Amino acid sequence: MNNNHFQIWENCLTVIKDNVSPISFSTWFQPIVPLKLDNEILTLQVPSHFFYEYLEEKYIDLLRKTLRKELGPNAKLEYNVVMENNHMANVKPLSVVVPGNNPANTKNRPVKNPFSQEEPSIKNPFVIPGIKKLQIDSQLNPDYTFANFIEGDCNRLARSAGWAVSENPGGTAFNPLVLYGDSGLGKTHLAQSIGLKAKELHPEKTVLYVSSQKFQTQFTEAIRNNNKNDFLHFYQMIDILIIDDIQELAGKEKTQNTFFHIFNHLHQSGKQLILTSDKAPIELKGMENRLLSRFKWGLSADLQNPDYETRVRILQQKAYKDGIILEADVIEYIATHVTNNVRELEGALISLLAQSTLNKKELNLELAIEIIDKLVKNTKREISIDYIQKIVCDHFNMAVDLLQAKTRKREIVQARQIAMYFSKSMTKASLSTIGSQIGKKDHATVLHACKTVNNLIDTDRAFKTQIDEINKKLKM
Ligand code: ADP
Ligand code: MG
Repeated sequence: MNNNHFQIWENCLTVIKDNVSPISFSTWFQPIVPLKLDNEILTLQVPSHFFYEYLEEKYIDLLRKTLRKELGPNAKLEYNVVMENNHMANVKPLSVVVPGNNPANTKNRPVKNPFSQEEPSIKNPFVIPGIKKLQIDSQLNPDYTFANFIEGDCNRLARSAGWAVSENPGGTAFNPLVLYGDSGLGKTHLAQSIGLKAKELHPEKTVLYVSSQKFQTQFTEAIRNNNKNDFLHFYQMIDILIIDDIQELAGKEKTQNTFFHIFNHLHQSGKQLILTSDKAPIELKGMENRLLSRFKWGLSADLQNPDYETRVRILQQKAYKDGIILEADVIEYIATHVTNNVRELEGALISLLAQSTLNKKELNLELAIEIIDKLVKNTKREISIDYIQKIVCDHFNMAVDLLQAKTRKREIVQARQIAMYFSKSMTKASLSTIGSQIGKKDHATVLHACKTVNNLIDTDRAFKTQIDEINKKLKM
């Protein structure tokens, strides 16, 4: 029996060092501790299960060759995986026997789960099922394809960068690929198209789509259940990671920190990251600088409001997909009047369809004008403090300028309070702006007014009815 496992491993390392990059060497080989040599079986201790999988996937050929050189053709390798979830006192090395001299056995072989002795069916801590490679549900929506994503000037760069990434994930300069733009412009759709296409072209790669919110929840859960390492390793196993609405991680330092490690790991191993955000990376507030600077390593491509031509083509495509025929004048009418974003464009089409089927009306220009005008009025008209004052005074049959009068007459005070209350809930104006516009009052008066109105709503039914009526008038 040869006890000199240190020397054997040292010899192996000398060969390995010449065959891998310095970073890979320090990341993947230096942390390995040789434990024993028993006949021709060398046992190596690795820090985690993920580590073991990674070695098996990337370096098994190299390991096998070097080991055979040292120990002869019957050389075998065993791994000891340090249990990660337990406290130090409980660290129990666990052997995973790996037949290191059987080439057919080493590629894509299902990996034995080192925790399975204690947890026969490993509970999935992250909602997303599966911890083993190839079994992860990518969480992609099959409708969000490139084919369904209409190209226009508004999205050309983002789309073609996305296409390039899906053809060659991790292999382009677009890593990470950050897609940004206002809500409803197609960030989620495009990000998922990339995932779907990449899966189609590279079925062996693990793709995962996750919203930042879900990522955050999983992280919190992992911390609570004391399995942050599992969380990390799970994400570090992904080949193409898509994280949607990254701006939602703003201010969440711990999650950002963990994401930073995942990002680094994936990026260093040539894996692809695709992120979306409602703002350009430089405008993201509440994000760690070291994370923001990494976002800039790749490409940030923005999605803009579609122009008229693109809106027409999007509508044509959606109608075609839903199997309906729309006259050109209907499409033109919608495309001319619904200009904010693609989501609203879709919404308009759906309302139109619903109205026409529910009320058995013909789907023509007349109906389109009726429906779209209502929609546009609802979404476009921003309620102003002036408008609120007017509606409130109309309701009480009083002149608007009475609200500005220096008087403590009960009706006027109450109308003023109601106007303040609606201004607070329906506009983005600050308390002091509201106060200065309604009777030249200060912010404390506005705050008091809101409290008073809320109290009355809770205690006075007649008053509540009045408020509901005004509310309805304001929204008409
Ligand atoms: P975001 O994530 O930017 O808020 P989404 O990706 O959810 O926007 O897009 C909103 C809706 O508009 C989705 O139903 C999507 O399919 C559609 N959409 C956006 N851009 C396009 C496009 N270029 N072609 C076709 N549909 C689009
Ligand atoms: Mg989205």
